[in-house]
Amino acid sequence: MCKLIKLASGKIRQFSEDTGQPLDWVHSGSLKVARRLQDAEVIENDIARGHQLGLHVQRISPQEAHRLNPFLEPEGITVVMWVGDDMYFDPAQVAIGFTRGAEAHGATLLPHTAVTRVLINNGQVNGVNTDRGRIRAPVVVDAAGAWTRQVAEASGIHIPLVPTMQQLFVTEH
Ligand SMILES: Cc1cc2nc3c(=O)[nH]c(=O)nc-3n(C[C@H](O)[C@H](O)[C@H](O)COP(=O)(O)OP(=O)(O)OC[C@H]3O[C@@H](n4cnc5c(N)ncnc54)[C@H](O)[C@@H]3O)c2cc1C
Repeated sequence: MCKLIKLASGKIRQFSEDTGQPLDWVHSGSLKVARRLQDAEVIENDIARGHQLGLHVQRISPQEAHRLNPFLEPEGITVVMWVGDDMYFDPAQVAIGFTRGAEAHGATLLPHTAVTRVLINNGQVNGVNTDRGRIRAPVVVDAAGAWTRQVAEASGIHIPLVPTMQQLFVTEH
C-alpha cells in the first residue's frame, strides 16, 4: 500500500502535465493519532515501515500535532505520526480529467453503454458486445469496479472478487 500511495501521489502531482486537465490538489500532510497503548504499537510499526519505504513520516509530539491542527487537543495522546507526503483532491476531477485527456489523445468515449459480454474466440479475446452494438478489439480491460466479476462471468471467466458493504458513521468529536 505504501508503494502504491507513493506512485499515486506522483501521478497526482503530474496529472495536469500528463492529461492537460486541471486538478486542484492540496498537499496537506496528515496526522495519525493513538490514545491507547495497543494503538500506539500499531503507529510505531507504521512509522518504522514508512522509514523503510522512504516515505516522509515522522513521530511528532502531541503539542506539535496541536500546532499543526488546532482542533486536536494534545491531552491523552500517546503517539502521533505525521505523514508529510499525504495530499487530498477531488476524485471526480481525476476521473473526468483522465477521460478528457484520453479523448484528446484519440480515444473514443461511449458513456451510458453497458458491456453485456466479452467476446472470446479460440481462447482469444476479440471484442465486446454492448447494449449499443458490438466493438471489435484485440485487448479488453475489465475495469467495472464492484461489477468486475459479473462482467467477466457473462463470458464464463471467473474472477475471485466479492464486493462487501461497509457501514460509515459520521460522529461528533
Ligand atoms: C460511498 C463510497 C465512498 C468511498 N470513499 C472513498 C474514499 O474516500 N477514498 C477512497 O480512496 N476510495 C473511496 N471509495 C472507493 C472508491 O470509490 C473505489 O475504490 C474506486 O472508485 C474504484 O475504482 P474503479 O475504477 O475500480 O471502479 P468504479 O469507480 O466503480 O468504476 C467502475 C465503472 O464501471 C462501470 N460499469 C459497471 N458494469 C459495467 C458494464 N457492464 N459495462 C460498462 N461499464 C460498466 C460502472 O458504471 C463504473 O463507472 C468509496 C466508495 C464508495 C462506494
